[in-house]
Amino acid sequence: MNPTPESQARHDDPATEPPAGSPGTSSNRAPEPAPLAVHGPARVIAVANQKGGVGKTTSTINLGAALAEYGRRVLLVDFDPQGALSVGLGVQPHQLESTVHNLLLERDADPSDVLQDTGVENMDLLPSNIDLSAAEVQLVTEVGREQALGRALKRFLPDYDIVLIDCQPSLGLLTINALACADEVLIPLACEFFSLRGVALLMDTIGKVTERLNPDLRLLGVLATMFDTRTLHTKEVHDRVVEAFGDKVFDAVINRTIKFPETTVAGEPITTWAPASHAAAAYRMLAREVIAR
Ligand code: ADP
Ligand code: MG
Repeated sequence: MNPTPESQARHDDPATEPPAGSPGTSSNRAPEPAPLAVHGPARVIAVANQKGGVGKTTSTINLGAALAEYGRRVLLVDFDPQGALSVGLGVQPHQLESTVHNLLLERDADPSDVLQDTGVENMDLLPSNIDLSAAEVQLVTEVGREQALGRALKRFLPDYDIVLIDCQPSLGLLTINALACADEVLIPLACEFFSLRGVALLMDTIGKVTERLNPDLRLLGVLATMFDTRTLHTKEVHDRVVEAFGDKVFDAVINRTIKFPETTVAGEPITTWAPASHAAAAYRMLAREVIAR
C-alpha cells in the first residue's frame, strides 16, 4: 500500500485551518525568489529569544526547509543542549559521538564527522546534545570565548547560502556566541500574555553585542508565532508587537496549530509533512521575506 496520497491529505487538511498569514491577511508582498546560479558565502541568522516555547526551534526547522525548497543551501545549527532541533529532524542526539560541542572545543575536530543529513534536500544539520551544556563552563577559560562558534562555522560558510542558528532559551555565553557570529538576528515572539516581557533585555543584549563584539549585527525581523485566530487577545498582542517593531515585523504570521507538535513526532518539517497546509505556506512566505530583506 502506498500511504502517501492519503496521509498527505490527512496531514494537510487545509479546510479546517484558518488562513495563513493572518492578521497580515494573506498579503503576499515578498516575490517568488529567483533561483541561485552560484552558492555561498552564507548569511548567518541567529534565531533568538531567551523565553522558551516561543517557536525558535520550530521556526528554525521550517524556515530552513522552506528556504531549501527555494533552492537555497541551508545549514541548521542546533545550539541548544536540549537538542530539540536535532530531534525535530529525526536525529537522536544522545546517540551521537560528534556534535557542535566538539567543533567548539576541539581545534582538530573534523567537521564532516559532525554534519548530519536532514532528509530534506539542500538542508544539513550540525546537531547538539546535552554535552553542549558543559561548553558554557568550558569556554569561560578560553581565549576569545565569545567567538568560538564563529570560528567553528567559518569553514562551512562557503558551502551554504544561509546558516540558521537555533539558540537556547537564555542570554548566556552560548547565545552570545551565536549573536557574535551572526549577520542578522530573527526574533520569534509568541502572541500571548507577557510575550513582550523580556524583549527589552534581549534588545539590550543585542545592542551590547553590536557595540562590543559584532558591529555588523542587525535585526532581520520579528516573527509573530502562536497566533490564535479564535481569540481577540492574540490580535491585541500582535498589534502591540507591530507598535513596538514597526516594519521589522514579518508579514508572515505563524498560527497556533497542533500540526507543529505533530511534525516533531514525525521528525520532519511541515513543508514535507503537510506540504499543502497553511502552516507550510506561512513558513514559505517567511522564507520569501527573509530572502527579500
Ligand atoms: P522554543 O524553541 O522557542 O522553545 P519550540 O519551537 O520548541 O519553541 O516550540 C515549543 C512547543 O510549541 C513545541 O512543542 C512546538 O511543537 C510547539 N509549537 C511551536 N510552534 C507552534 C505553533 N505555531 N502552534 C502550535 N504549537 C507550536
Ligand atoms: Mg528550542
